[in-house]
Amino acid sequence: MKQLEIVHYPDPVLLTVGKPVGSEEFGIEFRNLVDQMFVVMEKAGGVGLAAPQVGISQRFFVMDVPEDDGGHQRHAIINPRIVSVEGEQTGDEGCLSFPGLYQQVKRDMRVIVAAQDTSGEDIELDLKGLAARCVLHETDHCDGIVFLDRMSPLKREMAKRKIKRLQNTGEWDGRFARV
Ligand SMILES: [Zn+2]
Repeated sequence: MKQLEIVHYPDPVLLTVGKPVGSEEFGIEFRNLVDQMFVVMEKAGGVGLAAPQVGISQRFFVMDVPEDDGGHQRHAIINPRIVSVEGEQTGDEGCLSFPGLYQQVKRDMRVIVAAQDTSGEDIELDLKGLAARCVLHETDHCDGIVFLDRMSPLKREMAKRKIKRLQNTGEWDGRFARV
C-alpha cells in the first residue's frame, strides 16, 4: 500500500462530496487502510482524520478523542449519518488540512451518529463535547465541507488572511504535508 499523505486546503478533494464505502469494499485491505489512517493521524497529532484528507474521496474517518475521565473515544466511522443533534458549543477548532490554523467554530454539543464499523456492521454512537465536535467536523469532510465554511464571515476572512500569510512565507505548502 502506498504511503498516505495529508492533503492541505485548497486541494479539490477536500471540497468534493465523498462516495459511500460499498458493501463489497469491506475486508482486510480496507481494515489495513483504516489502521494506516490511525497511524497518520497520531503522527500528525490530530484527534480525527477523514478519508478526503489523505486524498481518498470516500465517506469514512478515524477519530481518537481523549475524555475527561481518562478514556478515549476511538472509532473508525464508515458511511456516517448524523441522526440527531442537541445543544451548542463554541470553541477553538483545528484541522490537519489547515496546518497552524485554529479558529472558533460553533457546533452542536451532542450528536448521535449512525455508521458502519470496519466489518460493515451497523453502529450508533452518542457523543458529547469534543467527541461530538470531532464527529461533526469529520462528517463535514465526507460531505466536502471544511471548517472554514462553518466559521462566522468575520472569522473566515481572518482565517483566509492567515492562510495567505502562511502561503507567502512558505509555511503552507498548498498540497501535501509529509508524515
Ligand atoms: Zn479537518
